Amino acid sequence: MSDMTDDCLFCKIIAGEIPSNKVYSDDDVYAFYDINPAAPQHILIIPKKHLTDITSATNEDQALIGKLLLKANEIAREQGLVENGFRYVINTGKDGGQTVYHLHLHILGGRALNWPPG
Ligand code: AMP
Ligand code: ZN
Repeated sequence: MSDMTDDCLFCKIIAGEIPSNKVYSDDDVYAFYDINPAAPQHILIIPKKHLTDITSATNEDQALIGKLLLKANEIAREQGLVENGFRYVINTGKDGGQTVYHLHLHILGGRALNWPPG
């Protein structure tokens, strides 16, 4: 992929260079199970375009960001998360707890989640 960042873990997952458990894929987004689940259901959905974090998105990415959220809704529905509720999380930067610098939306569910986060 032309905008792949060589050193990016999630770009490598998209490229199939690192294995992952796929939940959904199309031309624009990829969803897979988090390797270290923080809840009984924990899926990550990412744009195939490398964006470092949510603040890197520009007006050019408006449709992509919209699609990411709408596909996440479909996945949440398919996973049976809508009835009891669930949570979307986008950790951003150091204080936000971001560890992988390719934009990802966490879909977390399957148990009651605490608020506020620690
Ligand atoms: P964040 O802390 O928001 O940057 O989230 C990064 C997430 O990526 C964490 O929940 C990790 O468990 C997850 N993660 C890291 N490496 C992998 C991998 N190879 N496959 C699936 N999920 C991963
Ligand atoms: Zn990337």
